[in-house]
This record gives sequence, C-alpha cells and structure tokens, in this order.
Amino acid sequence: MAQVRNKQVLLKNYVTGFPKESDMEIVEGSITLKVPEGSSDVVLLKNLYLSCDPYMRILMYKDTPLSLGFQYSPGSPLTAFGVSKVVESGDPKYKKDDLVWGVTKWEEYSLVPSAKIHLLFEHTGMPGMTAYGGFFELGCPKKGEKVFVSAASGAVGQLVGQFAKLTGCYVVGSAGSQEKVDILKNKLGFDEAFNYKEESNLDAALKRYFPEGIDIYFENVGGKTLDAVLLNMRSHGRIPVCGMISQYNLSQPEGVTNLANLIYKEIKMQGFIVSQFYPLYPKFLEFILPHIREGKIAYVEDIVEGLEGGPAALVSLFSGQNLGKKIVAIAPE
Ligand code: NAP
Repeated sequence: MAQVRNKQVLLKNYVTGFPKESDMEIVEGSITLKVPEGSSDVVLLKNLYLSCDPYMRILMYKDTPLSLGFQYSPGSPLTAFGVSKVVESGDPKYKKDDLVWGVTKWEEYSLVPSAKIHLLFEHTGMPGMTAYGGFFELGCPKKGEKVFVSAASGAVGQLVGQFAKLTGCYVVGSAGSQEKVDILKNKLGFDEAFNYKEESNLDAALKRYFPEGIDIYFENVGGKTLDAVLLNMRSHGRIPVCGMISQYNLSQPEGVTNLANLIYKEIKMQGFIVSQFYPLYPKFLEFILPHIREGKIAYVEDIVEGLEGGPAALVSLFSGQNLGKKIVAIAPE
C-alpha cells in the first residue's frame, strides 16, 4: 500500500509562560492512505482548515486544568477543531469525499474516531456555538439592555456583539488596536468600541460608555478588565464567563478585588464550556442560518496558508496580532 507524506505540527515541550513558535515543531512523517482492516469506528481525513483557539494553550501545560477528553503531550501532533475531506471511512455513516468538521489533528492526514466528526453542511463552528450559548442561555438578554464584550473582535466576541444588536441591546466592545475598534464600529455594528490598551483607567472608560451601568458582561479576558467591570455592573446583571485569556500564560494569576459587588448587586456570574450547549445546536442553526443567508451577520476571518504557519498563528492570539477568527488553511494536493 502506497504511503504519502504527512506533515505534522508536534508539541515539542510542555509550555510555561507565553507560548513560542519554538514550543512546536514541524516534522514530515508518512501515512498509509487506508483505514485499518476491520475498523468500523474510524475515519481517514485529509485536513483542509485547522482552527487556532486560545484553549489550545491551556492544553500545553503539563497538568492542564482543562478537561476536554484529550491532552497534548510532547512528540504528538496538536489536536484541534478542523474541516476535512473523507479519504476513506470505516464507519458507514461517512463516504469518500464527504466534507466533515470536528476534532482532528494539526497534520495533513488524520485517522480519527468517527464519533468526533460531523457532516458539514452549513456550519459556523465552535466559536459560534460558544457565543450563542454563553450570550443567550447565561446572559439572558432583554431588549434595551446594556452589553459589554471584551476581546470583542475575536472569533467569539464579534458574534456576541452582533447577537446583542439583533436582540435590541446597546453594545460596546473592547479590543487592542484602533484597526479592531474601527471594524467593531463600522463592520460589526457595535454601538461603541474602545482600545483598552490606550485607557489608563478602565473604570473611567467603562463609566464613559455605560453611565447607567452594564447589564451583561460577556467575559473573554479576565484580570483587570473583570475587576473594573465589577464596579460598573447594574443590579441583577449577568456575567457569562467564557474565557480569561489575559491569565492563561501567567504562572501567578492576577487577583480580582471587586468580587463583593456580586453580592451587593445580586449579579449572576457563571463559567461554562461550550460542549454543555451542544444539545442546542439545532436551535442555534435555526436562529443563525436565516441571519447568515440574509447577510445580517458579518464574520471577520484571518487565514494563514500552510501548516508551516500554524505555530506562529497560534502564538499570535496571545499578542492580539490576529484580526478575527484565526484559521490555518492547508493547500489541497
Ligand atoms: P481569538 O479570536 O483567538 O482572539 C483572542 C484575542 O484575545 C486576541 O486577538 C486579543 O485581542 C485578545 N487578547 C489576547 N491577550 C489578551 C490580554 N492579555 N488581554 C486582553 N485581551 C487579550 O479569541 P476567541 O476564540 O474569540 O476566544 C475569546 C475567549 O473565549 C478566550 O478567552 C477563549 O479561551 C474563550 N473561549 C471559551 C470557550 C468556552 O467553551 N468557554 C470557547 C471558545 C473560546 P486584542 O487585540 O483585543 O487584545
């Protein structure tokens, strides 16, 4: 049976501090393009697009606190969400050339459990489900409420802002550059946006945009931002805690000092992992597909060509060099 090249991105070492490109390495392996005899629960995939997501950094810790059912280990390719084409399937549910999405690996070809993939028809990916579940199920928005979104130009934040507008809310986003602020206001429909890196006093900045306070804070960054937001929440506000990207690379996480506001203002703050919302997927599609078809949802993507660009693409998330959803495209043969 003919073997073909299988380029891979491996984790080189467990990571401490900010991830570096050199924490990963590109190697050229080989693979037989055949599902092992008698394996009815695996699929051989040609990977086309790989997703870069902040949680991947958390899986690079030796003892990851994140339980996803898979863990990175040195010498193995990174596992991640992706879009792939079926080369061969042991599972009769899939056939050659089907397009699928799901959990695959950072390599050209992957043999994966068929339970980890789904047929791709119209799909917005994991961040879309994250934005939907976090905002609607935990944020419980009502028309006219005031919403603040951090990391607002990222994969999740840009959708949360648009969902808030579709609900009739006032929405402000924070991001790390003037270019991102312009996109939030002019392309993604946020009412206001500001560059948090240029605000010496985040509390004052929030008071400027929310003189009457914040009803929903969609938390993506944690740390100082969360501390300032707590001072500006309204009574009975909600804080869906989606992520805390400012903390992922710190060996000593920052303290948050204003938590007593949760009591004084009877605020509901709740963390979540997107998988808890997967049962809502049909409801999510029913909501989002008409908006996509009518051109009411915009989506900003930042695509890098070639697996070789993967390590730099992943590292870029932690300095805000990505502009929207970061994706690695693998050229077809
Ligand atoms: P993304 O598109 O990968 O973008 C990440 C952005 O975070 C960067 O572009 C940067 O933008 C910002 N950032 C990086 N370091 C920062 C820091 N120290 N302080 C403030 N902002 C910083 O992000 P995403 O995929 O939308 O993810 C956003 C958050 O949601 C992350 O915390 C992620 O872990 C979380 N998440 C959680 C789930 C879940 O199931 N709970 C699922 C998906 C994502 P700026 O230029 O604005 O700094």
